[in-house]
Amino acid sequence: MFPNGMVPLGTSTFRFACHPGVSCFTACCRKLDMFLYPYDILRLKKRLNVSSEVFLQNHTRLSAGLHPYFPAVMMRMADNDEQTCPFLGEQGCVVYADRPSACRTYPLERAVDRASRRGRPQEYYFLTDHPYCRGHEESATHSVSDWLREQQLLHYNVMNDLWAEVDTVFAGNPWRGEGVAGRWQQLAFMVCYNIDAFRNFVHESGLLRRFRLDKARLRLINHGDDEALLKFGFDWLRQELAGLPTLCAK
Ligand code: SF4
Ligand code: SF4
Repeated sequence: MFPNGMVPLGTSTFRFACHPGVSCFTACCRKLDMFLYPYDILRLKKRLNVSSEVFLQNHTRLSAGLHPYFPAVMMRMADNDEQTCPFLGEQGCVVYADRPSACRTYPLERAVDRASRRGRPQEYYFLTDHPYCRGHEESATHSVSDWLREQQLLHYNVMNDLWAEVDTVFAGNPWRGEGVAGRWQQLAFMVCYNIDAFRNFVHESGLLRRFRLDKARLRLINHGDDEALLKFGFDWLRQELAGLPTLCAK
């Protein structure tokens, strides 16, 4: 059922701890091919107090995505001999409270079965075992559910699952015959990764006025809440590109 004979952890526990005392401390924060998801970028650009445009320019690169119809955004490693993560400081991670999903989840990997026979998506967690990581020799034990709580992953997973639903639409080549890099794909990229540009677009185009949005949601968006705007953007893309009834037109 799972690739390479991988076995999900289920309810069993695993041994792991990561702290400045492990001999490998920060060994994993270099030479990374790390995907950044839309919510990762919201958190990081807010943490750094820069616009999403500046964040994209300074810290990311584009790569092939999981399908041919939308690129992936990756963290760009620093241009030094060790190709360190740009957020690796002398004492460790300088954006720790807002570190990306992949860093939070490690040493676990998450897979979601969206076609589960149970009728709703099922998530599975697997334990990675990189030889350089000595964290597995520490005595602390965790269950998956403890780990998700301790690493504050639950909300990240909710936001990443919303993004996955949008990317599933992208995987169907929904670009209205414009092909990749056409106007709709550029709009979609802006919604997903450049939230400050999307905010300007929303104001200039009057996009919000086309839909019935409840007052609380509208208030959040109008008060500059990036997360509320991103969720609206996801709904808008799913409606425009896949015809899903995610928003109510006026
Ligand atoms: S290699 Fe493992 S134990 Fe070492 S710093 Fe990275 S996550 Fe922590
Ligand atoms: S964001 Fe922080 S934890 Fe993640 S790779 Fe960079 S320095 Fe390491």
